Amino acid sequence: MAQDGHKYIFVIGGVMSGVGKGIAVSSMGLILKQRGYAVNLVKIDPYLNVDAGTMNPTEHGEVFVLDSGLETDQDMGNYERFLDRDLTNQDYMTSGMVYRTVIDNERALKYGGKCVEAIPHVRDEILRRVEAAAEHNGSKISVIEIGGTVGDFQNALFIDAARVMKMKHPNDVVFVMVSYLPVPGTLGEMKTKPTQSAIRELNSYGVQPDFIIARSTTAIDDKRKEKLATSCNVLPERVISAPDVESIYEVPLNFEKDEFGDHLLEALGLSEKKKPDLREWQKFVDALATSEPVLKIGIVGKYFDTGDYILSDAYLSVIEALKFSGAAIGAKPKIDWINAKEFQNGEGVEKLAQYDGIIVPGGFGETGIEGKIHAIKFARENKIPYFGLCYGMQLAVIEVARHVLGIKEAHTVEINPTTAHPIVDVMPEQKDLIAEGNYGGTMRLGVYTAELGKGTIAREAYGKDKVEERHRHRYEINPEYIEQLEKGGIVFSGKSPDGVLMEIAELPQDVHPFFLGTQFHPELKARPLSPHPLFTAFLKAAKERNTK
Ligand code: GLN
Repeated sequence: MAQDGHKYIFVIGGVMSGVGKGIAVSSMGLILKQRGYAVNLVKIDPYLNVDAGTMNPTEHGEVFVLDSGLETDQDMGNYERFLDRDLTNQDYMTSGMVYRTVIDNERALKYGGKCVEAIPHVRDEILRRVEAAAEHNGSKISVIEIGGTVGDFQNALFIDAARVMKMKHPNDVVFVMVSYLPVPGTLGEMKTKPTQSAIRELNSYGVQPDFIIARSTTAIDDKRKEKLATSCNVLPERVISAPDVESIYEVPLNFEKDEFGDHLLEALGLSEKKKPDLREWQKFVDALATSEPVLKIGIVGKYFDTGDYILSDAYLSVIEALKFSGAAIGAKPKIDWINAKEFQNGEGVEKLAQYDGIIVPGGFGETGIEGKIHAIKFARENKIPYFGLCYGMQLAVIEVARHVLGIKEAHTVEINPTTAHPIVDVMPEQKDLIAEGNYGGTMRLGVYTAELGKGTIAREAYGKDKVEERHRHRYEINPEYIEQLEKGGIVFSGKSPDGVLMEIAELPQDVHPFFLGTQFHPELKARPLSPHPLFTAFLKAAKERNTK
């Protein structure tokens, strides 16, 4: 059972998807936290995948890994960044997870011979999970985002679960609809009709929203607030303006202008525990907008064959991590996306000379691999700050092995399983699983400790000797080559506590201003007001190159 007096805010989309429901939820989390409440944010993804790990980033965006290792949707990244809190397995669910539990229970005879149905059994499992999330981490308020848009077939059971929640706890449940109000070019006027229809549709589920977040190109005016209010049974002050913004981090500030936080507390029957103070946040937003100089960062990757808007999604956390560190050091990173395939045989790689810093981000498979290695070689030889994230670290080590140590066949077994020099290899215990085609169980996922070596760039940047970072990879630097690689000049500045796994590789600063790669994904832990030290160190080096 839910804790007594725990509050639930269910957020549902209207009219169309992609209007920033996740950012609205994240911003609600922040403004409630600012009022002194412990908040957890829950994402419900209605797809049947049991987690987001099996989805292609070009289709679904980045896979965001939690401390626990659970592979989730990129919205969870925004939640953690706005809330500045590590979320847990309980804060994420997919239809796949829910159905799997119900089916497992059925196989285990847990339903006492009953006919197992979507309603009540699947719905009850959803409720159980929502309540478990509330109970689990001591929060007072849960904001729960139901994925998709009202009217979708896939999310109907979740909306029904929310309705039952309201019936069980009438004073503790609030509904928010994030809707879209178009301003057709020919009319130049904001139209409320699609939102009215969406709310009627939600009403047909037996759910009445308490708030409407009015997403549009501009702020909704009082006249239209009144109109929505009377036609949709929502108080006018509970129609919250959400115009397009330069940066998603402005959204909570805009919410405050409409006193959204106060109205939410009132609707939940809670009073303010402390006065919200968004001055630090405001400073950060200002720094994002005004920071000079502009640093040109080239990201050499592969997940952008399908059109521009996909790019930013596949590497979302990397972009955000760069923004946070940029704001912190007074610089504005400007990212160029470079398709690694361009440099497949080394030609054209000189164009990278224009960049203040180069990143090779995480990735899987063969596409563009040689192009990435050429880019890393160029960065190393021309002393351009280089930051390798996971695959970008493995490939940097391979690059040094090939071109400094002269081990021509140096490779990762991910690409060449029979290479004479498997510099990047599978750990023995995982080999059998992969041989059986059992890829699901072979990833190193979630938080692991790394110990940092004295006098290294990593140790200096972090300012401590032990760190916890999130992983998502299958392969590792082969321990048999460590000695040789160290002779080639590589410093393994981060290692697992037993010394077996190489977590950070770098070149000493007298050889290169910044050449560092991490086996983990530092971008997953970067937060607006506590930027990631390694991203900050990388951008400092880029700034130095820029102002030289
Ligand atoms: N493909 C590499 C591995 O599985 C790197 C993964 C990554 O960059 N996330 O080890």
